[in-house]
Amino acid sequence: MGDVKSPQAAYQKRKYAKRKAEGLCPGCGKPAPAGCTYCGECNEKKKAVWRARYARRVSERKCIRCGKPLPEGRKQLYCFYCGIREAEREREKYAARKALREKSQGDLRDISGVTQG
Ligand SMILES: [Zn+2]
Ligand SMILES: [Zn+2]
Repeated sequence: MGDVKSPQAAYQKRKYAKRKAEGLCPGCGKPAPAGCTYCGECNEKKKAVWRARYARRVSERKCIRCGKPLPEGRKQLYCFYCGIREAEREREKYAARKALREKSQGDLRDISGVTQG
């Protein structure tokens, strides 16, 4: 961990961090929209790359997350470990949604609950 493979990689990493800190797209250096790391153009490019990789990995029966070959007979698109990570992420997402829903319902209850009890 932490060892730099080539000066080029270190330079790329520094450039990326600098642009990101300045609110510029790390891909092309143009200003990125607020709240976004990449500009729209680079975002689309990245998405296209991601989609192509996804399609290739699915057709090659590899984990779409890390690219490891999937064991024979595994129906999921993730390897064992990535499957666990993804399930955790889904659970967190679900919990966050649920908390948000309960919060808004709680707000409603605060208003209507005045006449009750
Ligand atoms: Zn860009
Ligand atoms: Zn994986």
